[in-house]
Amino acid sequence: MGRRLPPGCGLDIHKPLLHNPYFLAMQDARRLRKCLVCKSIVSPKSGELQCPVCWKTHTNNTSFPRLFKSLHLRAGRRSGKSLAGSHGVREELSTPGQLWWVCGPTFKILHDATMPALLRLIPVDWVEQWNQDNLELTLRNRSVVQFRSLDDPERGRGQGLNGVWIDEAAFCAERAWHVLSPSLAENAGIAITTTSPGGFDWTYKTFYKRAVTDKVPGYWAAKYKTLDNPLFQQSAVLRREVEEARLTMPPDVFAAEYEGDDVNFTGVIYGQAIDSQVLEASRDQTEEEAVRKHIPEWPHIDSTRKILIGLDSGADHPFGANMVVVTPTGLVVVDEYLERRQAHVTHLSTIQTRFQLNRFSNILWAANKNEAQLRIEFALRGVMVAPAENKHMVGIQRVQSWLHAKQMYFVGSKCPKTIEQMRTYRYADNYQTDGQKRDTETVFKRDDEHPDCLRYICMAFPELPSIDAITMSDREQARWNSLDEQSKLDIERIRAYNKQQLERDLDVNDPGYPVGDMYGGMVSSLFD
Ligand SMILES: [Zn+2]
Repeated sequence: MGRRLPPGCGLDIHKPLLHNPYFLAMQDARRLRKCLVCKSIVSPKSGELQCPVCWKTHTNNTSFPRLFKSLHLRAGRRSGKSLAGSHGVREELSTPGQLWWVCGPTFKILHDATMPALLRLIPVDWVEQWNQDNLELTLRNRSVVQFRSLDDPERGRGQGLNGVWIDEAAFCAERAWHVLSPSLAENAGIAITTTSPGGFDWTYKTFYKRAVTDKVPGYWAAKYKTLDNPLFQQSAVLRREVEEARLTMPPDVFAAEYEGDDVNFTGVIYGQAIDSQVLEASRDQTEEEAVRKHIPEWPHIDSTRKILIGLDSGADHPFGANMVVVTPTGLVVVDEYLERRQAHVTHLSTIQTRFQLNRFSNILWAANKNEAQLRIEFALRGVMVAPAENKHMVGIQRVQSWLHAKQMYFVGSKCPKTIEQMRTYRYADNYQTDGQKRDTETVFKRDDEHPDCLRYICMAFPELPSIDAITMSDREQARWNSLDEQSKLDIERIRAYNKQQLERDLDVNDPGYPVGDMYGGMVSSLFD
């Protein structure tokens, strides 16, 4: 039987590769290894496992481990991310005796996009054999690549892989990754994942967040826009395509498709309402300057200010806390705390130290009213915790009203996890398995410690956002000034209506209104 070549084999090997910094950064990160003989961090020559410092020739990943076991590129449509994945795999296959999987979420995506991207980069004279039935390519250096569609997650069971590339990973089921990832363990294999964002999907959490927010060693990730693709920078026609899309698509869809942004299409609770409320460095100001608009003495908070502390304990998840400063312009979330499994009292002393609470005399502590144990233990150490009403929807509404009035802020560098959790906090799928719609929305019970802390704070703190003090950004002010009188009048009327709505939602007679509970309930339950 003669040698069979895969379709499209080698067609793109002479195609020029335009400079894309994200693409290059990923390849650099992928090449890094630590030589366990001479302890150097090195980038060996392509196709070899030889340490360029001590010249030891390694035979596997175990004595020559990777610095990064996960490389994740998150980018919009036509951003060139599949090209980045295929160049990475091609170089991996140039090392003899490697076994790689290349996967896509469906057979169609695998067959039409992912597979050709790689096969067109494989030189004809590398090929030993192509098996069309099993979609398996064997190279002359004994390296093998197998193509797999992950539409059936159970098909992801492999053995002894040196690496896997999952293209459009956000559109694969998370289950597929759980089935597949053990196959990487025995050879200390790596995972390259490339994807258009599908909202805050499992890949965001598993690969992107670990690398970028949590900075877990071994994880590398980058996110970039379609317009960052050098092809678009060079071509006015392609740029126009993006600008047209920007004008014709809903903003959420455009953000996901072209900006590579993570957007929740459904079920989001606070979502993008958080974005404008993060106090962080921008072109016009430092983070410190942004915070000082609300707390002029920042970072040394005046000791007479009102401080709110929200607590969320719980046996099966970490203990969370948030520190909020009450200011004339709104509530500023200035710090966060999230730690696992310790005694309540240990959390208390750590929180007091970390938030420097001994400086303040006007502190309101709040936790779920069901947390009796926590309140007793804290009370024994002189800290009275207000029992906040635990009605989910009422609490969420209160937080939403602070956000929508643009009077709740987050100090970016001080509470990254809070911002993250607030963005991803969402309703559970509102349909039961029998297709019946649920009566009330339920909230995903995962990574919700900080949203819960803020919910308890807003329930226990008796004030409401000041509707008249809505502050406009410079841009909003300029737009406002440019409106004619009639439009201004219309907007004022809408605001007045909204104000009415807010007041109705949070009526003092509402059973969820926390004032009575806060001062009455606590003392009696603790000292009766
Ligand atoms: Zn070495």
